[in-house]
Amino acid sequence: MKRAFKYILGAVLVLAGMTMLFGREFIARRAFESALDRNVGVDQSAKLGDGLHAYVCGSGSPMPDETRAGPCIAVLAGNQAFIFDSGSGSVRKLMRMGFPIQKLQAEFLTHLHSDHIDGLGEALLQAWVGGHRNTPLPVYGPPGTDKVVAGFNEAYAVDSGYRVAHHGPKVVQPSGFGGTAQIIALAEGVNSQVVYDKDGVRITVILVDHGPIKPAYGYRIDYKGRSIAISGDTVYSANFVAAAKGADVMFHEAMNKDMVAALGAKLAERGQTNNAQIMHDIQNYHSSTEDAARAAKEAGVSTLVLYHLVPPLPSKLIEPMFLRNAPWLFSGTLLVGKDGMIVSLPAGGKAVKVSSAW
Ligand SMILES: [Zn+2]
Ligand SMILES: [Zn+2]
Repeated sequence: MKRAFKYILGAVLVLAGMTMLFGREFIARRAFESALDRNVGVDQSAKLGDGLHAYVCGSGSPMPDETRAGPCIAVLAGNQAFIFDSGSGSVRKLMRMGFPIQKLQAEFLTHLHSDHIDGLGEALLQAWVGGHRNTPLPVYGPPGTDKVVAGFNEAYAVDSGYRVAHHGPKVVQPSGFGGTAQIIALAEGVNSQVVYDKDGVRITVILVDHGPIKPAYGYRIDYKGRSIAISGDTVYSANFVAAAKGADVMFHEAMNKDMVAALGAKLAERGQTNNAQIMHDIQNYHSSTEDAARAAKEAGVSTLVLYHLVPPLPSKLIEPMFLRNAPWLFSGTLLVGKDGMIVSLPAGGKAVKVSSAW
């Protein structure tokens, strides 16, 4: 009797083990199939509706940050899409967010600091292969953009040969490879100028102040009565405020200089004098959180999204320290940018909706 009980118990355990094993595989398979159904080949942007939509594809800076890619804001305006800067890791975030790369019209660079162009090669490749382009992507930016674009084209030339040979020229059209530089050079005394105007989308370049890096640009995007202004890298800029007047949403770079100074002091204390010097130097060509709040207040925007955050903010707990007095200087909606954030401005209204792709 005892032996029979042992056999029965053994059989039950084996059965339970097999059910667990195969049951888990069954559940995993169902989850995978459901994810395929919901995501693959589906235009995730279709549900956003007509309007202006900003994708925060990189809210970080050159400093290492596991949650924030390098600077990148992408904008969908009706049927036309644009990317403003492609920092390191931002293209992967953008594609993960369901950005409609096939609608991409152009890339706009604010300036040519490495943290704003590190991901440009990846952006050009995605635009070509994922976006099925048959002409190179126009890349707008300050003088020097031609050199940067030519460099990326050259660096990816060998890879482009592999892809055309492997998939065939119908699938990846050789004529769509890479980018073409569109240099923006403002005449002396001109602080802003329309550089793109097509099918209801108007993009204005704005001269900002990131000296000694000259010129450096911000941008304003207008579509169906809604508008977004993007600062790029700058100290408080009266030009930017003037050009951003009446916009709905402002994306502004932000640095907490006390925290950067503390980083520098700690590095110096530990004998890392070169890195300490860099922490000192970067403070004079960026905006404090209060500068950003002041710009938003003076431009009269309803929403301010901080991005290009320095230093990195690994926890939400640090945000009040990072923001300092900014929440008291700007009475509108103040948001600390996060990768995956989508800020939507539906056409024909005043609403600003904020959601997350994950
Ligand atoms: Zn910069
Ligand atoms: Zn930067």
